[in-house]
Amino acid sequence: MLLESVRLALQAAASRSCEISVGSGLLASLGERLSAAGGSRCVVIADAAVAGSHAATVTAGLHQAGLEVAICEVPSGEASKSIAEVSRLWNRFAELAVDRRTHVVAVGGGVVGDLAGFVAASYARGLPLWQVPTTLVAMVDSGIGGKTGINLPGGKNLVGAFWQPLGVVADLDTLASLPDREYRSGLAEVVKYGMILDADFFGWLEDHAVSLCRRDPEAVGRAVAVSARLKAGVVADDERELTGRRAILNYGHTFAHALETASGYGRLLHGEAVSLGMDAAARLAVSLGRIDGEIVRRQAAVLAACGLPTDCDRFLSGLPQAVTPQSLIEIMRRDKKAVGGSLRFVLPSRIGHVELVGEVDPSLVESLLRPAKG
Ligand code: NAD
Repeated sequence: MLLESVRLALQAAASRSCEISVGSGLLASLGERLSAAGGSRCVVIADAAVAGSHAATVTAGLHQAGLEVAICEVPSGEASKSIAEVSRLWNRFAELAVDRRTHVVAVGGGVVGDLAGFVAASYARGLPLWQVPTTLVAMVDSGIGGKTGINLPGGKNLVGAFWQPLGVVADLDTLASLPDREYRSGLAEVVKYGMILDADFFGWLEDHAVSLCRRDPEAVGRAVAVSARLKAGVVADDERELTGRRAILNYGHTFAHALETASGYGRLLHGEAVSLGMDAAARLAVSLGRIDGEIVRRQAAVLAACGLPTDCDRFLSGLPQAVTPQSLIEIMRRDKKAVGGSLRFVLPSRIGHVELVGEVDPSLVESLLRPAKG
């Protein structure tokens, strides 16, 4: 059953438009979609955790539609976003005699989406790509927008390309096997869309956070469909991050990246860090007189109802003493989105609207990052 279909119309000459489909029972339809797009051969790149389940359903549908299918399984986890894994896949593609008419189908979360997307962007100077997200993060965020990439020892996502998929097929049924913590982590990005773009959606989240946390199918369908539409709208306005519009998607992320880096990758899931980061950003907006404390309270209540952490002070008090407010600020200054080392944040001016604020006084940020005593 198709719940929502969004056409992401892209302006950059090299990009095509991309159809984003959200619903249930959609996996098997990949075959028809690829055939309609002129595909006759494809390579499915699948996260090992879903290779025997969701990717197998996709593959069966592709076979049924008469496509020639090869499968490449990728180990689960961030470590797969590496040049070694890219190189392994490139070599496998060469063995399979993949050519420009071969479609690449990425089945998994953001890790496989980013990796397979980069392989598709780079092999034979670009192959048609399909994203089949199986995590909530990938359905509402990483699968949409065409950013692909891998990590280097020196930093996350340092090598990559903009490469738009022909289509994104978000089948909500795949979320049934997703562990709870991973699912909740994705809800942070959903709340983010309400905060940055859509006050009505935020109000709906206030009413439905508990159902969402319990994975009520109707609530999940609406949350994914609206989030996908909101992200697609921002990407259509600023596909290549040239006008600054796409930067609003980084709400909470400057703090989040600093917390993830300082606490060691793996301690916090990205969405958990974003949740703490949105709380810190909203409190910073209060110190700058941009919003009142009621907005901080409402945001924290929705995040907490989604089972996400919001108490940044408490989190910081559990970290080693070497993690000081100054050390966190230093990480923020090195953030690839900072300009000339000055601190810039995406901050709310009301629910449903944010602005990019530059030259923020570091002492204000420091006071927000002092861990609670005791
Ligand atoms: P992930 O891909 O690592 O998936 C999380 C975990 O869930 C993994 O262990 C995976 O094996 C497992 N999994 C996936 N689908 C499953 C399912 N249906 N059932 C059971 N287990 C399943 O992580 P993620 O949170 O989806 O994505 C994070 C990645 O996305 C990061 O690398 C981040 O940099 C990237 N990202 C990219 C963008 C972008 O615009 N390209 C945006 C946000 C995040």
